[in-house]
Amino acid sequence: MKFRHFLLAAATVVLLAACSTSNQQNQAEQQATDSLVVNVYTHRHYDADKQLFADFEKLTGIKVNVKTASADELQKLMEMEGANCPADVLLTVDAGRLVRAKDKGLLQPIQSAVLNANIPAHLRDGEGYWYAFTQRARVIVYNKEKVKPSELSTYEELTSPKWKKRILVRPSDNIYNQSLLASIIAHKGEETALLWAKGIVANMAREPKGNDRDQIYAVANGEGDIAIVNSYYLGQMLHSKEAADTIAAKKIGIFFPNQADRGAHMNVSGGGVAKYAPHKENAIKLLEFLSSEQAQKVFAEANQEYPVKPGVPLSATLASWGTFKADTLSVVQLGKFNTAAVKILDAAGWK
Ligand code: FE
Repeated sequence: MKFRHFLLAAATVVLLAACSTSNQQNQAEQQATDSLVVNVYTHRHYDADKQLFADFEKLTGIKVNVKTASADELQKLMEMEGANCPADVLLTVDAGRLVRAKDKGLLQPIQSAVLNANIPAHLRDGEGYWYAFTQRARVIVYNKEKVKPSELSTYEELTSPKWKKRILVRPSDNIYNQSLLASIIAHKGEETALLWAKGIVANMAREPKGNDRDQIYAVANGEGDIAIVNSYYLGQMLHSKEAADTIAAKKIGIFFPNQADRGAHMNVSGGGVAKYAPHKENAIKLLEFLSSEQAQKVFAEANQEYPVKPGVPLSATLASWGTFKADTLSVVQLGKFNTAAVKILDAAGWK
């Protein structure tokens, strides 16, 4: 009997040992697979980004899992998921949203000599919570048959009576307009910003509706003569496979305002490491890759966005628009004045 007990016990020990070895093996394998993953929550839904994630996988062996949704949905999701949030990286557009993500505690600060070297200081958070990876100018586009570029000068001049019923611009709930107004607040104060917003409302060709692309179409169709839009939309329409896009875009000229003073208003898209990132090291690697010359070229070529890394060549289309003076106001300021901008747009009756 005793011997049988001994055998049973010995067999159990062997079995347990075998189990724990295979458990350890499984765990190690699982960790190895886990360590080759980075989870990205992104509002950017461009082919350029898909290409970049594939390039990153090839370069590092780290698999990029992507979840896309609207910018505001992603932030809400991260808030809800809290410490269980699987996101390592949040990518979004507009400095206002990046500042909001930091303020809501969705990001964590990181230190990276690579990011600091590649991205100028006015295009990143001072504490390392987020970094810009592309820039876009908020420009004036005009119908080449109706407007000469010599008639254009500054954002401020758009409030002149000569533009009455001629300006197209999207609604005020969009963050691009909020950030443009935030830049005017930062440079000139709230009173001037309110007068400006009222002046634009007075000159609108129609009640604001649609997105930036719709404004470009409306200018091409003669619903107004000029529009305020982000530069890459025109670039993307020029390269579109849809004939209607290219036909409309070819009727349009692009103008960079405020060249004699502060420069054209610039906004950014960017991202940071999520507060509860399970793969923080991989997240930093991905952000560093997005700031590299290789990735910055793709943003310019495939998406017609301006690189943040100095010295990266522009796409042929961006180069054809010429060099221009860009406002170097820290994009942090756009987030800082967002609430004031929303109030002013409302007070000005900008729908
Ligand atoms: Fe956009």
